[in-house]
Amino acid sequence: MFKKILIANRGEIALRILWACRELGISTVAVHSEADADALHVRYADEDVCIGPPASRESYLNLSSVIAAAEITDADAIHPGYGFLAENAHFAEVCEACNIKFIGPSPAVIRQMGDKSKARESMEAAGVPCVPGSRGTLGSEVEAMALARKIGYPVIIKAAAGGGGRGMRIARSEEELRVAIQTAMNEAKKAFDVSDVYLEKYIADPRHVEFQMLGDERGNVVHLGERECSIQRRHQKLVEESPCTALSPKLRKRMAEAALAGARAANYQNAGTIEFLLAPDGKFYFIEMNTRIQVEHPVTEMVTGLDLIKEQIRIAAGEPLGYTQDDIRFFGHAIECRVNAEDSESFVPSPGRITNFNISGGPGVRIDTAAHADGIISPYYDSLVAKVITHGNSRQEAISRMRRLLDLMVVEGIKTTIPVLRRIISDTDFLQGRISTHYLERLLAGGKPVAAHS
Ligand code: ADP
Repeated sequence: MFKKILIANRGEIALRILWACRELGISTVAVHSEADADALHVRYADEDVCIGPPASRESYLNLSSVIAAAEITDADAIHPGYGFLAENAHFAEVCEACNIKFIGPSPAVIRQMGDKSKARESMEAAGVPCVPGSRGTLGSEVEAMALARKIGYPVIIKAAAGGGGRGMRIARSEEELRVAIQTAMNEAKKAFDVSDVYLEKYIADPRHVEFQMLGDERGNVVHLGERECSIQRRHQKLVEESPCTALSPKLRKRMAEAALAGARAANYQNAGTIEFLLAPDGKFYFIEMNTRIQVEHPVTEMVTGLDLIKEQIRIAAGEPLGYTQDDIRFFGHAIECRVNAEDSESFVPSPGRITNFNISGGPGVRIDTAAHADGIISPYYDSLVAKVITHGNSRQEAISRMRRLLDLMVVEGIKTTIPVLRRIISDTDFLQGRISTHYLERLLAGGKPVAAHS
């Protein structure tokens, strides 16, 4: 087992990894930017290293500074968390070259899945259903036109290097397609430095359903069930739950088998997520694989009882999974709400100092956060304040616990998304499981968020 792990991240996920290391008796190194000198992950780690100025590019994304910090502190592994360097194949290669274990899949798999058009090809070859679309990236506008005519509009143009919902454009006609290709390419170039795009059929009103996968370094692969992540704004998830209310046992089994086939074909190691779109007619399609721990991993932990970060560490240390698919049990229902520092109507970021912070506990409650009273939500990084997670024997119980938590949660000094989350949690369509990726758009068009109780 590792003796010392460097955590190449910040915020709630850095703390989450820290707790797992502590429980495993592994010492920890926090890295931080100048803006995060007082952050909790720095305070609680055994050692800490400042890796640069506030801008992520110069600190958390600065590969050489992170590696230097690991070398100086003699860390034998790096956990990248999510975001930042988590899906950077080059970083994983440099770790390997420096004899530091990268806690994640191999660089080759990160690279393969990081190119979403290549990922599609490999999944298709493994027999996983994919959204009809281009083979590889688009060569020309003419090719795109011909393909769109063949599969039928609407279509979606997506960045091969995409992530975080960027570089995606929908086109409903030839005229729109011309513009969509250009805008998606420009956006992709700006965001990812690679302008390659590919084309897919645009699936109307789908659900986003993803499967949590775990593979060890000896070829054992299991799935830990699904997460329903349809509640999104601009392709960014707000509320996630497990299980998904739309899956019959038969459909769940078919999707899980497809996910397992995909992960096995990729020789997948460590934790990863296979994302599907589930159409209203029950057909499902692979859209991408994320080769890291996901923000929404706690809902899976709540229903399986597994600690995914510890599993990641154990796997990276070469240990076998030690259980088979049949050993994995699912119990109850879990929901996660992402409380962001954003105006709940305009979704404009609202960084600043938190003057008051309070959240109640109780049965089936989990709060993953690095926020606290007098703490700062920095304008330099993402606006996540807290992940509020509840578990119940039934979906209804998880929802009523969530409602209580959100109703009583106090975050002062900054604006948060709590009002919109409260509105979702009490909405009839949500309560009845009538959701799709367009759900939030429809809800927001319908009226104003409910007033706070307090
Ligand atoms: P990213 O990597 O940027 O998160 P994804 O490929 O995972 O991009 O897609 C994010 C979201 O975009 C999906 O959850 C879904 O809401 C929407 N989306 C992506 N592809 C399609 C498609 N072919 N049809 C309809 N919606 C799509």
